[in-house]
Amino acid sequence: MTDLTTRRTTAAAAPVVPSAGARRGIGLDEATLHDGFWKRMQDVNASASLQHSLDWMERLGWIENFDRVASGSTGPDRPGWMFSDSEIYKLIEALAWEFGRTGDRGIDAMLERLVDRILPAEDSDGYLNTCYGHLGQEARYSDLERGHELYCAGHLIQAAVARLRTVGEDRLVALGRRVADHVCREFGAGARQGLCGHPEIEVALMELARATGEDRYREQAELFIERRGHGALRPIPLLGPGYFQDDVPVRETEAWHGHAVRALYLAAAAVDLAVDRHDAELLAALEAQWRRTVERRTYITGGMGSRHQDEGFGDDWELPPDRAYCETCAGIASNMVSWRLYLATGDVAYADLMERTLYNVVATSPSDDGRAFFYANPLQQREAGEEAVPDAVNARAEGGERAPWFEVSCCPTNLARTLASLNAYTASVDDDGTVSLLQYAAGEYRIAVAGGHLHLRVETSYPDAGAVTVTVLAAPGSGASLRLRVPHWAHGATLERDGAPTVVEPGWASVHGLGSGAVLTLVLPMHPRFSWPDARIDAVRGTVAVERGPLVLCLEDRDLPDGAALDGLRIDADQPPRAHRDGALVTAHAVPSPRGGARTPSFGAEADAPTGASTLLPLVPYHRWAQRGPSAMRVFLPIRP
Ligand SMILES: [Zn+2]
Repeated sequence: MTDLTTRRTTAAAAPVVPSAGARRGIGLDEATLHDGFWKRMQDVNASASLQHSLDWMERLGWIENFDRVASGSTGPDRPGWMFSDSEIYKLIEALAWEFGRTGDRGIDAMLERLVDRILPAEDSDGYLNTCYGHLGQEARYSDLERGHELYCAGHLIQAAVARLRTVGEDRLVALGRRVADHVCREFGAGARQGLCGHPEIEVALMELARATGEDRYREQAELFIERRGHGALRPIPLLGPGYFQDDVPVRETEAWHGHAVRALYLAAAAVDLAVDRHDAELLAALEAQWRRTVERRTYITGGMGSRHQDEGFGDDWELPPDRAYCETCAGIASNMVSWRLYLATGDVAYADLMERTLYNVVATSPSDDGRAFFYANPLQQREAGEEAVPDAVNARAEGGERAPWFEVSCCPTNLARTLASLNAYTASVDDDGTVSLLQYAAGEYRIAVAGGHLHLRVETSYPDAGAVTVTVLAAPGSGASLRLRVPHWAHGATLERDGAPTVVEPGWASVHGLGSGAVLTLVLPMHPRFSWPDARIDAVRGTVAVERGPLVLCLEDRDLPDGAALDGLRIDADQPPRAHRDGALVTAHAVPSPRGGARTPSFGAEADAPTGASTLLPLVPYHRWAQRGPSAMRVFLPIRP
């Protein structure tokens, strides 16, 4: 049941609302998605993942931790990692956006019940944390490197911002303000010169400043951002200060490095600061970091993080497919940065990367039923993983099966808040009234522009097919200007306006003077294509990947012909991939089983010599992998010499 009476969604009902710049993203209420790829994911998130997350956190005692603080019964037996509070806050943020999106009373009631539990745990001075500062616990702020207290506060503040922008002032918003005020008192200029080992408070305070108009929150965020990079944190053994970006100031950084989620949350906050402070130099530095990192440290899926030991970026060109970490949260955080850079610059490349990451990282993580998740998203799985035990907590799910919950369970709730607010990333409006459609999702869009609203209906089954039809249902009197994103891979795309198709180049297809009743059809070429890795990426030299539209494809061992081995096939690159169902068919030849030998078992004097008749291998979208059960899988396919 939907009742919109107490919602207050406005054009600002979105996760990111810069206080400067020539462009804004749309609010949640400006788009209503219809059945399609993302609407289905949103529905599963709403009907399954939110309650699933709540149930697990209740069961593990993470929510009860708040009750124990309130009743004074804390002790050394507290369950959960020191950052488990943040998962409850991210769930609250997801519920806030979901209520803002749909007005579902049940969702709102879930949120209020959680607020009932966390409010009594607040200390009298606005400190809120269930791991530190109470009976039997370490003192507040005694371990800034690992303690995640400011990180947790940041997620609480982001939940409060979501509430403020969808409902208005309430007790959650008031709590967020008190927590932020506490942080400003404790860490402001003249107070302790500390910062958190895990960036997050910065991006939260920036948005709170925007949502409330209180510049002191922005000033505190700026202090945290500028303090980092000077060795203020004690390095964690074996990881060094680069792990939490305390080795180089953000404005002097050349490429993102260290723990990927930390680096990206910090970068997101730094973009916010650059925009709100009109700091062109800082913005240019961040754009350069994005370019360098995307060019050399990012997987074909958009995934970021090449190393397991620190969940971190690798060196340039260090992109092993089998050891890819590509944490789901890093994909989400990458989109947080790209979205902010897009709003700041209007450069289509940022929206292109977001699409790549949405379809190949974000959409890959959850199971079809929304009750299990990938934490890491490798691009090669040599052996089929174990079927995840349905009722058990997984350490961190490095294997090839989605798990219902994790000891470190950052990804499920991060997905939840992302999917609940996804509408906000589908389109933007420039100050001159031009509307840009960025991600193609069927639905109705009623976007506020100068002089009224531009009301559009978008019909598409993208990414299953490449046609996107846009009908103008209403436009301001002078006619509307619309830009359609033509993805970088879409060579040969066409745009038809009222019956006359023309070829449009990757970038933007711009149309002006659109009145009510105008119909545009963008047709993106969806035939599968080979994607060749840069020769400097040693780990995948001699291989090729296949993409179809925005989807990276993969080969799962369950689809192999009888007797074939996943690693015993060589692709015939002279034969272009052919469309097949929602994936492709490629031609391959078998190579003999591994060569034996007395001294160097896997090496020999002769190169591979594929033999036998060719066979056709069916590839499926990477985001579908292991949805049919555990499987071995690879994205990069070795080619026949
Ligand atoms: Zn995560």
